Amino acid sequence: MECPRKVEIEVLEKDATNIRLIIRDVEVPLMNALRRIGLAEVPSMAIDEVVMIENSAILQDEIVAHRLGLTPLKTDLETYNLPEDCSCQSEFGCPQCRVTLTLDAESNEGTRTVYSGELISENPDVIPISDKIPIIKLAKGQKLKLEAYARLGKGKNHAKWQPVSVCAYKYFPKIEVPAKACEDCQKCADICPKKVFVVKDAKIDIRDLLSCNLCMDCVEACPAEPKKIKVEWEKNAFIMNIESTGVLPPETILRQATKILDKQLLEFEEQLKVEEK
Ligand SMILES: [Zn+2]
Repeated sequence: MECPRKVEIEVLEKDATNIRLIIRDVEVPLMNALRRIGLAEVPSMAIDEVVMIENSAILQDEIVAHRLGLTPLKTDLETYNLPEDCSCQSEFGCPQCRVTLTLDAESNEGTRTVYSGELISENPDVIPISDKIPIIKLAKGQKLKLEAYARLGKGKNHAKWQPVSVCAYKYFPKIEVPAKACEDCQKCADICPKKVFVVKDAKIDIRDLLSCNLCMDCVEACPAEPKKIKVEWEKNAFIMNIESTGVLPPETILRQATKILDKQLLEFEEQLKVEEK
């Protein structure tokens, strides 16, 4: 068996919701597993059940509940359990697997918009990621009063539990530009939709290698035969981009994805052992 290599990770950029990494010495199946787990298996908190106490607005209860479900909530994976893993095993849930949020909104004069900021949570750490998500419009005299229950869940069961808006990777590009200046031709630089190249004294140079998406337009545009420009990709290097919806920091999503993959592999190994017996 091949000795496990050390994966090399370089952070290109990182902020509260977005992370871009170069990952080297990995294979496509691992990258794809992490991508899929990031999308479908890393749990996050979302409203799953709504008890409507009063709704005199024009939107039906179901539509209001749907809008609430799709409101991203800040997630705390340390404190809460997935309902299926919680010791309570109750369909109503317990304080370890459920957060109650309430909304009591009314319009006393004119029409007004009710925003996510008006939801009151029993846990101040589990609140909508923004106060400015519109939930409903109320005309004068209309009222909306409800109690909502948020639970952890997975994106594979409903998109409201998907913690990412982007979780993708691409091959690390490898570009060879003509060594000498091309006479009067800069077609490759002009056609590139990502503006990867820059022309300096009729010589093509690479301005931004990482933005190349390997579309090959530059190679096709080159009139020379054989082509003077060469675009390839590195076999075991990838650029990964994770954009969180705000429910979890993007690096936490990646860390959780690796933990989940680890657990799944262990379970798989156990299953194999059982089969062999
Ligand atoms: Zn519970």
